[in-house]
Amino acid sequence: MLSFHLKKSNYFNKFFKNILQKTSISSFLANNKLKIGNDLNGFLIEKIRPIDLLNITLYELKHKKTGAKYLHFDAKNDSENAFSVSFRTVPHDSTGVAHILEHTTLCGSQKFPVRDPFFGMTRRSVNTYMNAWTGSDFTSYLFSSENEKDFMNLLDVYLDCVFNPKLHHLDFAQEGFRLEFEKTENGKSILLPKGVVYNEMKGVLSDPMNLFYYKMMENLFPDNTYSKNSGGDPQEILTLKYPDLKNFHSEYYHPSNSFFFSYGNFPLSQKTEFIQKNYLINFNRNEKISQKTKINFQKKFSKPKTIRTKYPNVNLKEKNNSIVGIGFLTTEISNIFEVFSLAILQKLLLDGPNSPIYQALIESELSSGYLPITGLEDSILQPILVIGFQGVKKEDIHKIIPTLFNSLKNIIKNGFSKERIESILHKIEISQLERRSGFGIGLMEYILPVWMNNADVIQKMNITEQINIFRKKYQEESYLENLIEKYLLKNPHHVIIEMEPDENFQNQVKQKENDIIKKIETKLTEEEKQKIQDQSRQLIEHQKDNGNQDCLPNIKLEDIQCEIKNHVIPISQKENFNNIKIEFVPEQTNSLVYCRILAQFPHKSFFTQEDNFNLPIFSDSKIKLGTEKYDYKKLHQQIERYTGFVNTSPILISSPFNNEKFQQGVLFSGSSLFSNSEQMINILKEIIHYSNFQKNSEHLKTITNHNFNQFINGFSYSGHRFARRYASACLSPLNAFEETYSGITQAKFLKNQLKQFENSKTLQFSKNLENISKKINEKSLFKVLITCEPKHIETLENQIKSITSLFRNDQQENLKNQYRFRSDSEDIPKFELKNTFFKFPFNVNHIAKCYYVNQPYVSKFTASFQVLSKLMNVFLHPEIREKGGAYGGGATYDFSSGIFTFYSYRDPQSIQTLKIFDKTFEWIKKNSFTDEELNQAQIQSLKTPVLSPSDKGMSYFINKITGEMKQNKRDNLFSIQRKDILDAVDLLFNSPNASVILGNDQNAKLFKSEKNWEIIEF
Ligand SMILES: [Zn+2]
Repeated sequence: MLSFHLKKSNYFNKFFKNILQKTSISSFLANNKLKIGNDLNGFLIEKIRPIDLLNITLYELKHKKTGAKYLHFDAKNDSENAFSVSFRTVPHDSTGVAHILEHTTLCGSQKFPVRDPFFGMTRRSVNTYMNAWTGSDFTSYLFSSENEKDFMNLLDVYLDCVFNPKLHHLDFAQEGFRLEFEKTENGKSILLPKGVVYNEMKGVLSDPMNLFYYKMMENLFPDNTYSKNSGGDPQEILTLKYPDLKNFHSEYYHPSNSFFFSYGNFPLSQKTEFIQKNYLINFNRNEKISQKTKINFQKKFSKPKTIRTKYPNVNLKEKNNSIVGIGFLTTEISNIFEVFSLAILQKLLLDGPNSPIYQALIESELSSGYLPITGLEDSILQPILVIGFQGVKKEDIHKIIPTLFNSLKNIIKNGFSKERIESILHKIEISQLERRSGFGIGLMEYILPVWMNNADVIQKMNITEQINIFRKKYQEESYLENLIEKYLLKNPHHVIIEMEPDENFQNQVKQKENDIIKKIETKLTEEEKQKIQDQSRQLIEHQKDNGNQDCLPNIKLEDIQCEIKNHVIPISQKENFNNIKIEFVPEQTNSLVYCRILAQFPHKSFFTQEDNFNLPIFSDSKIKLGTEKYDYKKLHQQIERYTGFVNTSPILISSPFNNEKFQQGVLFSGSSLFSNSEQMINILKEIIHYSNFQKNSEHLKTITNHNFNQFINGFSYSGHRFARRYASACLSPLNAFEETYSGITQAKFLKNQLKQFENSKTLQFSKNLENISKKINEKSLFKVLITCEPKHIETLENQIKSITSLFRNDQQENLKNQYRFRSDSEDIPKFELKNTFFKFPFNVNHIAKCYYVNQPYVSKFTASFQVLSKLMNVFLHPEIREKGGAYGGGATYDFSSGIFTFYSYRDPQSIQTLKIFDKTFEWIKKNSFTDEELNQAQIQSLKTPVLSPSDKGMSYFINKITGEMKQNKRDNLFSIQRKDILDAVDLLFNSPNASVILGNDQNAKLFKSEKNWEIIEF
């Protein structure tokens, strides 16, 4: 749950959701009583700024007594309110003290003296987000909620935790790190390191991308805090002492070092009053703190560095798989426009088949793709540009960086085309108009680094102005070329990293850990050994004592609305075009248009087994290989220039009445400004009807490589998801398809396909893909959904005709009648019912045990399973996380696949965890849960996601789920009784199940003698 914050992801994707109708500045002035210079509960209002494009008003405040800073974004039309309190934290080592403090802070406070108020609140709240982040120079505690009572509850718990935490030494032992004897009562047995953060970071550093990133930071910033791993290097974590933790808290978690943020439509004064009265009133100003949190600029290098190192290779057998990358120190975070320009430059250089670096290093097959960490990291004092490549052959390592520099020199000669620059600016403009859920949290993440480093938040938010300046600048002589020279070609402050795979990497890490432990062990006196045993005993007692949870504020069932709100059913046009049904969702979209075209396949002998394996690559190739009219580069250009996005993906549509029945399909989708809708629809038309798989078939290899890399990069990060997918594949046909499309099975298929390409078989492959395309166009049933402003419906109706006229129409009516959900067929991929252990070079495990229960969307059992999964977390969380030391774990139920899952994530245990899963049944059967816990589980199940306009109506369009069905399901959730839970657990216990582990060699050995387990190497 708590996430360690490594690096910001995509630069432009987070913002800005525009809010419904605009109000003018004048009405804002007339309506608003708050003025600059006002005292609002001890906070001085320093600035008020309307931000028109977003229909937001920004209030900048300072707490008079302590100097605490506060930014409030008043968004009248957004009910998803967000809050965060952040501290600038500057660690001087890699013991992970900031990160361990982030965890321990949430383990109990003065007002809430229970062991785990954070997880307690996850069960007592209807939040839409709850988390805490540790970054390299900050720590944040944040949440969002649509319910006002819930918001104030969370505010109280969060603030008491950060300002008045207990920081119990046993919580430090649990969350951070501790030593324990393998047999806790035997001081002669093996000594083991344990702890949640310790295991979390072991997991983080199993990932080559993270290893690369930390090496880069360490070497680019040798003289300041950015060289340290604020999350903690497991080996250094072993040296952290409890008093260090206490000191770190008293040094940094002070109001004079705090940054309050809020967003949404709840009143500001309510928040300032609460914060002042309950918290800040007790503090005085700390003058020294700004000195402590100051980060010195890294002194510029006079010459670059090259680092050679090793990494653990997930793709075990592949030797030719090195990673090579380069990182440049660029400007300062306060140079907002320069950073903006660099972000655009980065896109021009790196993104898509038209970018020079992509062409020179990926299309040329010097590497199999970018390292996912590639891009501009602009959330630190001195932003850096990192470009990394994976899948580099050993003999090519030395070619990578010179090729990169050569291609940069060529750009200086040739420049960028105006068309490409405008395409990228268009993308940014359109992303500003997109309305998304979670806007407040995204905004906070976007502005916090700028705010904390005293740079201009308003300027950072004013993207439109920056685009305007950029448009002028880039047309001046050599603006972009000069940036390349200054920050890349002639910048000696860069670091090159070469990493080669090493099969023994994890063993060496393990050996090092053992050596450290041995060293500690030999120095231990009998008395100290006794202390370790005592602590183990105390911790067990401590973990049993939940305190009186009644002190935590609560949302009650009666605080929650029973009626579903805003269920949208698309409107069908009376007239069908060419027998094709077109549906519309009229919405306030800021004039954006979303178009979805669903092709549903007939149920009998439509695809071969091989086709099914090819479907994901087929979908990608549709967009990445080009069409009759456009080659793949031109097509990419068109997509960038005229659309927000264009996408194709295989889709499985389960029946809301029976999980055994489902359909396969492909969903084509796209978005654009209304003014570009005709071009967007034309692009979709090209992609659906005129794709050409043979013209650029050699490019298939790059696409396959790209897809394969995504799997390789995902295994360590989302291992539990892959475990779940594989485990459920043998339980039902729908899940067998799911695994074939997106599981380990697909990854293995891609790996094999890449080998075949070595004997240049791309042409045959492209013919197979073309075949799939033909089948789809000739035989499937198409339907269309468009989301747009009501006034645009008529125009779009006319535009979409050009596509529908091409769909095969003679048998549409017939096909429709033939349609039925499929329960069995020969082309369903076969998976044997068994348990599987996949060996990976991880130092922790990812585990899933799945049960298959086939229940309709509206049924007492579906509601019961949903509540049951939440209820089981009450038992699972302390067992798996607190006692077992895993980073995460719990139970979930997914109605659409019929799968009930127990899982753990970054887990040092394996057999033990499986035993805990089994014990959960007894815990429920023995009625060990209280009525209050049952109510809380219901409340969790009743949380509804905030939908963006483009998501509305989709559950009806795809799955035919009506408002009435949703309401019935909700009514069921409200009425769950203890007896329903006991019935559900009986049914679950007797359902077919399978377990899968993605784990390490050591744990694999434990399963050698286990019955019905197969151990496989990926
Ligand atoms: Zn963490």
